[in-house]
Amino acid sequence: MDDAGHQTYQLSTAQTFDVIILGAGISGLVAASILAGRGNSVLIIDEYAHVGGNHMDWTSSEGYTFDVGSLIFQDDSPLLKHFPELLAHYVPIVPTWGRLNPQGQITAYPISVRDDILAAGPIGLSRIFASVLYARFFQRRMSNAKDFARYWIGAYLLHRSGLETYMKRFYGIAAEEIDLDLANKRMRWISEYASLISLGRRALTRKRTAGPVNRQMARPKEGFSVLYGAAVDRLVREGVTFKLSAGTRRIEKTADGFEVSLSDGVLSSGRVISTIPVATAARLCGTTPVCGLDTITLITLYFSFSGARGFEQSIIYNFSHLGAWKRLTVYSDFYGHVNAREYFAVEVVAGQVRSVEEAEDDFRRHASANGMFAGDLKLENSQILENAYPIYSKGAAQSAAQAVSMLSAYGIESLGRQGGFNYQPTARVSTIEIENAMRTE
Ligand SMILES: Cc1cc2nc3c(=O)[nH]c(=O)nc-3n(C[C@H](O)[C@H](O)[C@H](O)COP(=O)(O)OP(=O)(O)OC[C@H]3O[C@@H](n4cnc5c(N)ncnc54)[C@H](O)[C@@H]3O)c2cc1C
Repeated sequence: MDDAGHQTYQLSTAQTFDVIILGAGISGLVAASILAGRGNSVLIIDEYAHVGGNHMDWTSSEGYTFDVGSLIFQDDSPLLKHFPELLAHYVPIVPTWGRLNPQGQITAYPISVRDDILAAGPIGLSRIFASVLYARFFQRRMSNAKDFARYWIGAYLLHRSGLETYMKRFYGIAAEEIDLDLANKRMRWISEYASLISLGRRALTRKRTAGPVNRQMARPKEGFSVLYGAAVDRLVREGVTFKLSAGTRRIEKTADGFEVSLSDGVLSSGRVISTIPVATAARLCGTTPVCGLDTITLITLYFSFSGARGFEQSIIYNFSHLGAWKRLTVYSDFYGHVNAREYFAVEVVAGQVRSVEEAEDDFRRHASANGMFAGDLKLENSQILENAYPIYSKGAAQSAAQAVSMLSAYGIESLGRQGGFNYQPTARVSTIEIENAMRTE
């Protein structure tokens, strides 16, 4: 363990490996599990001092414990096929989701028939209906995510529900700049919700947001290092080597494969798999610089709170037209109160606000205006995560495909959320995509 409590597994001598994997996030760990299982000697390299990539937590001396994102896992995840030892470490939870709508109500996520549609009144209802009809007949041509959403729920409900504002807040760009391909792949729920039968059923049964059927789980209270430490221990037993805080400097092609230069030496391998940002990998290889692949910087605010909370749910999405924050997660609902105080993390996409101070001011103002927290709200800490996820602007998918094929021409396989510039909302999706990539061998 290092001073920060992270597990470290350092190389003792320079070695040659069958495969070097860049990045010790979910994609890198699953790739290592598959390749070690096939008898390869594997080295995983990461810039961070910890394993698990963007699964990062922070715990205060008093015992408050937060993550950079709202990290929820499931007991039927394919990740557990690779690392069954994780299951015993997860904490079973019963999360509930809500949404702050533009009318200032905490209501169902992602849409409420009662609060977003019926509450619009007779005039609002006829506007919703008219705008859906208009879109279906006159706005059939789609070239971006806004066109897609408008076609299904109409411009009026798109605005009234706050969905358009949330898309901008989440993806860091206006909905009309978001790639249509992403909408087709990842926003299908909008078309499902828009089916009249489904809406009618929801209205009649007044069903609350139905939770998933599998068991939901959070990481152990002690942090991700305990969770992924168990996976690392097994990989190490299978012969995988880890080099953390590596200081990766350069990747060069040799007659036998590759040489990877680190801050303290050079390692070689026949094969390199990269799960690090595609632009970083291109820079390390010295290939043509990659442009047009921007990523989100995420500011996460860690608060503790004592007083009256204006909502019941553990996770709230901000669909209102104001406030820069996008989601808050009440961790004390999962891990219990500390010193009789609740605690929660607030995710804010950097852009509209640029610093922790601005993000905090903006959140306090907006939460107070919407009656979310009445009492003593204390900022315990914060974290800034660069490269949190890709920005899917129009044309980014093509630029990413070009960059990945450029790396492939150099001999490097670039995969994963950052390596493939892929929308991977969950560790489940990251696992499946790595499995698919490795299956073709
Ligand atoms: C805010 C947020 C919330 C999320 N919530 C959930 C959730 O609730 N449930 C869920 O299942 N999933 C969630 N995810 C998604 C999940 O975390 C990702 O799908 C998955 O972690 C992607 O893994 P990866 O290995 O592809 O990428 P990453 O985790 O980003 O790993 C890439 C690794 O590359 C390393 N690296 C970068 N540059 C270099 C370099 N030059 N040399 C060496 N290494 C380098 C990084 O340090 C990092 O460790 C969330 C993600 C975020 C960002």
